[in-house]
Amino acid sequence: DHALRQAAELIREVPDFPEPGVLFRDISPLLADGAGLNAVVSALGRDFEFDVVAGVEARGFLVGAAVAQEFGTGVIGLRKPGKLPVVADRVDYTLEYGRATLELPADTLRAGQRVLIVDDVLATGGTLGAACRLVRQAGADVAAAAVVLELTALEGRDKIMGETVRALLKA
Ligand code: IMP
Repeated sequence: DHALRQAAELIREVPDFPEPGVLFRDISPLLADGAGLNAVVSALGRDFEFDVVAGVEARGFLVGAAVAQEFGTGVIGLRKPGKLPVVADRVDYTLEYGRATLELPADTLRAGQRVLIVDDVLATGGTLGAACRLVRQAGADVAAAAVVLELTALEGRDKIMGETVRALLKA
């Protein structure tokens, strides 16, 4: 769609960030643009049935909260370790270089809820895979995992098998 194609042009490519050899996609200029933000927010949630949005720290917070507001649900922040006062559950996972952890805040997600997981970029899939595990371990259901941009060469989708994955843009 036309609005999404225009939004795609606002993504900046930054060579050698965060380390040499990596081409980082920065969606900050897209989110700063009113039409761009609007296009991605409505496309991320369209036609899915969900009771709550879970956004992944940190850019997933920005997009996820906007999606929740647009579709009339609440929002939950899935956080990096050491930020939450009371943790309901945590999942450790491996990244390309090293390990990472995502935590679910206490008293947020209820068993049986349908969750739309939102993040900015799907790369190797470790992060979204961990987010899906956190949701399932809470007895909730993953309605879908939705991202603005998928880096297809990294085949991250394969780590999230069995769930619906929506990527608005691919690179
Ligand atoms: P993954 O776990 O390898 O799929 O990495 C996804 C996580 O890292 C997401 O939370 C993204 O915000 C971040 N990430 C990885 N690559 C990029 C990128 O090129 N641009 C922006 N974020 C990225």
